[in-house]
Amino acid sequence: MNNVKQITINNSSVRNVIVIGGAPAGYTAAIYLARATLSPLVLAGENAGGQLMFTSEVENYPGFSKGIKGPDLMDEMRKQAERFGAEIKNENVTKVDFAGEIKKVWVNETLYQARAVVLALGASSRMIGAGEEKYYGKGMSTCAVCDAAFYKDKTVFVVGGGDAAMEDALALARFTNKVTIIHRKAEFRASKIMQKRVLEEKKIPVLWETEVVGVGGENKLEVIKLLAKPDLASRDKNSKTQNIEEIKADGLFLAIGHTPATDILKGHVELDNHGYLITKLTSPKATHLGGQASNQEVWLNGYPTQTSVAGVFGAGDMVDIRYRQAVTAAGMGCMAALDVEKFLTGSISGW
Ligand code: NAP
Repeated sequence: MNNVKQITINNSSVRNVIVIGGAPAGYTAAIYLARATLSPLVLAGENAGGQLMFTSEVENYPGFSKGIKGPDLMDEMRKQAERFGAEIKNENVTKVDFAGEIKKVWVNETLYQARAVVLALGASSRMIGAGEEKYYGKGMSTCAVCDAAFYKDKTVFVVGGGDAAMEDALALARFTNKVTIIHRKAEFRASKIMQKRVLEEKKIPVLWETEVVGVGGENKLEVIKLLAKPDLASRDKNSKTQNIEEIKADGLFLAIGHTPATDILKGHVELDNHGYLITKLTSPKATHLGGQASNQEVWLNGYPTQTSVAGVFGAGDMVDIRYRQAVTAAGMGCMAALDVEKFLTGSISGW
């Protein structure tokens, strides 16, 4: 028989579960946890809502046939979690300690404690630092899967030389006749098969050894400024001797990587070389997660969203190096919540 742990609901200094992060993964975890009467505390961050707060129209989130604004989607998810009793605070977590059965989470001097924690702090898209943030949702995008359809027959550019840049350029080429990739090096780092697909596609020319050094436009992006080698070598944007070319652009898609928001977690839970949170789902064979488990063992007998620490679970973009969609983050948030429920009730004996 299972050794069922006691769950204390509310009114205790030790809560059942704390969710860190207030975006699709965190809010979805909160909806499921609240409906399971586990009274989650959600520390959503001072800028709750994550990347969707910068997204104007979301057309690929299921259930909204006419689309929905990113901030509205976040607002709806938050209200849905609150409706079932989730307590949500717009506070930034400053410190964690996951050693021991009771997990500790600080917001400055305030200590919150819980038997389980869901980490869902997300990841931010890297910027090139040419002032492009101003045009987020107005010509600048970090998600071609989300926004390519808005650029039908437009003049668009993709920055980057990795798999994401290849994938974005190919996605955009389905909507427009010319997608130019701008890459700072003379070769791509993307996988050979993705490179081949791009280089064989006539709609996708490449500007090698070139960087975007400026952007411009009244109310939306209208031009980008490019600096090519040999000027790149002495990269002083103020130098009059450099040959900066200004060209018309309707869309600038950045695909230069992401930074997972895992800084406060370093040393408390296992991260990969790029700072992403490792879970059994993403790394079932990691030795610190239990060794040579098969995928089937993880899915059937374990907690797929568990991190290297028992009772600490991960979901969303801080775990996901591949899909990074609102709906996949929400899906992982749901999985983490179901794992927490099983963990707290001891209904799975596995690791
Ligand atoms: P990535 O592999 O780290 O590539 C980032 C690219 O952006 C690099 O080419 C890099 O240039 C460039 N870059 C970085 N900072 C820059 C800056 N400030 N200005 C201009 N360029 C800059 O990132 P990713 O493409 O997002 O891929 C992340 C991971 O997901 C990879 O493991 C990738 O294989 C995987 N992924 C796979 C697929 C697929 O299999 N279809 C699709 C997407 C992603 P340098 O080359 O000069 O460093």
